[in-house]
Amino acid sequence: MTDYPFPAPPQPVLPIVGSDQLFPLRRVYCVGRNYAAHAREMGHDPEREPPFFFQKNPDSLDTSGRFPYPVKTADVHHEVELLVALGAGGRDIAAGDALDAVFGYAIALDMTRRDLQGAAKKLGRPWEIGKAFESAAPTGPVYTSKQVGHPAAGRVALTVNGTLRQEGDLADMIWRVPEIIAYLSTYFTLAPGDVILTGTPAGVGPVVAGDRMRGEIAGLGALDVAVV
Ligand code: MN
Repeated sequence: MTDYPFPAPPQPVLPIVGSDQLFPLRRVYCVGRNYAAHAREMGHDPEREPPFFFQKNPDSLDTSGRFPYPVKTADVHHEVELLVALGAGGRDIAAGDALDAVFGYAIALDMTRRDLQGAAKKLGRPWEIGKAFESAAPTGPVYTSKQVGHPAAGRVALTVNGTLRQEGDLADMIWRVPEIIAYLSTYFTLAPGDVILTGTPAGVGPVVAGDRMRGEIAGLGALDVAVV
């Protein structure tokens, strides 16, 4: 039995709908500016600046339904996104084979300390302090591809206290799920347990303590998260 100098950190997991099994998390890849209208609202031209990637940490995926307002910010934004959970991996995966690697899908919120991200952008620095803080990705349970297929179209929305903030359609992604997996696999060796947050539609904005966020994606139900 392996001996450690302190208790080994727990394996981050996501629940799986209709199963007692848990999805063990490995890496968390996130796509930036994957919906044209959101790229424009952030001041960018989606024709000239294609999507790109950053990462969050597996232990920042939080399924508690509570989002603690983070420290060091006065401008935390919601970004509702389709999460793709991989059950297989590899390198240089062809787009035509990519969906075979998908275990399932979930709703996730790419919560962002926008003020810190904005400062980092201005200085040409990485985004970690804006994106990778504790509980930075409230996430719902994983629906398996056997249950829901491979959603390529359908409404993506987020309300705050019942008011519609974000709305889009999965069909409006600039890079679709198979293309994202294929592209990522040219830079990284993908593996079971990896998840990808596929970008957010337009309408991002701030929340404050006491707000109730509801993310919705067609076929995946709703994710309710209280800002505390
Ligand atoms: Mn995002």
